[in-house]
Amino acid sequence: MVLRPLLPFSLFGSVLCAQPSAPSPIAAPLRELPWGQLNFLHTTDIHGWWGGHLQEPSFSADWGDYISFAKHLRDRADADGSDLLLVDTGDRIEGNAIFDSSKPRGKFTYEIAKEQSIDLICSGNHELYKAASADGEFYHTVPDFAGNYLASNLDIINPKTGKRQALAPRYKKFTTKNQGIRIVAFGFIFDFTGNDNNTFIQRVEDTVKEEWFKEAISDKDLDLILVYGHVDIRSPEYQLLYQTIRDAQWNKPIQFFGGHTHIRDYKVFDSGSVALESGRYMETVGFMSISGLSTPSSSQSSELKFERRYIDKNLYSLQHHSGKDSTTFPTQHGQNVTKAIDDARKSLGLNHRFGCAPRNLWVSRRPYPHEESIFTWLDTELLPTALETNGRKAIMILNTGGIRFDVFQGPFTKDTKFLISPFTSGVRYIKDVPWKAANQVLKLLNDEGPILAAMGEKNAYLKPAEHVAAQYRPQMYSASESQDVFAHSPHLQEPLSSSDSGDKDSLFPGYTTKDDVGTDGDDTLHSAIAFYRVPNCIQSTINFKASEDEPEVVDVMYNEFVEKWIILALEYLGESYSVEDTHSYAEGKSFTDIMTDWVKEHWGVDEEECPS
Ligand SMILES: [Zn+2]
Ligand SMILES: [Zn+2]
Repeated sequence: MVLRPLLPFSLFGSVLCAQPSAPSPIAAPLRELPWGQLNFLHTTDIHGWWGGHLQEPSFSADWGDYISFAKHLRDRADADGSDLLLVDTGDRIEGNAIFDSSKPRGKFTYEIAKEQSIDLICSGNHELYKAASADGEFYHTVPDFAGNYLASNLDIINPKTGKRQALAPRYKKFTTKNQGIRIVAFGFIFDFTGNDNNTFIQRVEDTVKEEWFKEAISDKDLDLILVYGHVDIRSPEYQLLYQTIRDAQWNKPIQFFGGHTHIRDYKVFDSGSVALESGRYMETVGFMSISGLSTPSSSQSSELKFERRYIDKNLYSLQHHSGKDSTTFPTQHGQNVTKAIDDARKSLGLNHRFGCAPRNLWVSRRPYPHEESIFTWLDTELLPTALETNGRKAIMILNTGGIRFDVFQGPFTKDTKFLISPFTSGVRYIKDVPWKAANQVLKLLNDEGPILAAMGEKNAYLKPAEHVAAQYRPQMYSASESQDVFAHSPHLQEPLSSSDSGDKDSLFPGYTTKDDVGTDGDDTLHSAIAFYRVPNCIQSTINFKASEDEPEVVDVMYNEFVEKWIILALEYLGESYSVEDTHSYAEGKSFTDIMTDWVKEHWGVDEEECPS
């Protein structure tokens, strides 16, 4: 059933909700939540977006609003005797100034995150790249969610004792509050290899052979087996977990929650087992319900019912699905958290403007190359002028996954800076590499071949996560690449009037998810957004044009993250270099700062307002 919007929009903003500068949501036809016996709200890959999206109305609610929302749904469960559980599957850090620009990083993040009562939580890969972030989990998130944080295949060196131990319990068995459903839950991370040396990830294929695991999944006194993790729901890791559990219990319902690939997706393993993945960056709250589970008073139904919904995280959706209006929706607790996020943003000066972006620049919504592709901007405008090589000829290679978000026309602020490039790593280079070899590196990093095979083995990907997901889901591209590029951007959308809301032409662009059960998963009806391929890496030439000049040697520059692959590619091309042959550019200045200085110089504007 689709609800037509009836209310005018001036209702929003009368009570403190969302961040002060967040745009009002846009009314749109909605699909209802398929509420059931056991219900879930699922977040993943938040990457520090606690404040929501301040330039996109569809995702403009914040963590405080999510706290209010969950409270109303918990009340609903208590009122009708059903159950509600909240799940978060990791990558809570890195990707937003509120995390990345605070000192220490995480100063606000842990305090904000812990305000939500999350029933099942685990680590993502981003919590593990740096030893200090993993210690942040140990000191903050694990104790803040004691009993709810699980680490089925993740160990850490205890920073106090220096001894290796499980980051958190491997699994837990519990009973739901109202229905008394008996659940065993596991919290996994995919076979990640890029972690710092204070954590240890046991491959899933080894974990399933452990006695404790075999015992836990063979328990007959269970109504549901729940596997959540920072794992692509279509990965070999989840396939193996599904198969192992199904072999142990042929008839037990198994619910999976996944993450890491930053997309909305839903997979059906069999009639008693499904998996949900709920997007990225606080754009989506995933909703899942199961009905027909056994309880102390009833046996398992012969027809289990699994249903999913992807909620656009804005006040229009959240208020509707909780049956509240703008006055009754916010809870005191939610408002306090909204205020705390606003205070944190203010103290970090995130609205400070470095310049004005003259046009939108997209990661995936435009082909590459294209004048509105963020990668075209980088390789033709920014990199050739931002990097200073004293006249030396150089190439600069940058992996596309290092660029995390779109640039919207208008103010380019401290906020924007960290949304685009949150990482602290710098640029490095190898001097005087023969051009013949240097000129082949990009091809090896981008096209089929031994380097790509090695990356695949290591689960190391250089593209944005959504594009890694698309490698296994080619329909993500085929549907959109044939479409015309749509001409308007989200913040220019006009609210719909109630009379035209069901008309396909009047829908505004947003998620149009296609998953294993169809195209009716999204709560909001949208028109589709184009999604174009991007390469692993892009390359820019500095102080020469490859079409006009074939230098004898060049300096090969690259962002630090791809160093290993550059060295491997050169070795494959017959040029042997080691890490000792590499140099730090500009004393380790981060790519993020290089980009920001370019923006100040080239996009700086004196006027108070950005030109429209
Ligand atoms: Zn992520
Ligand atoms: Zn991840």
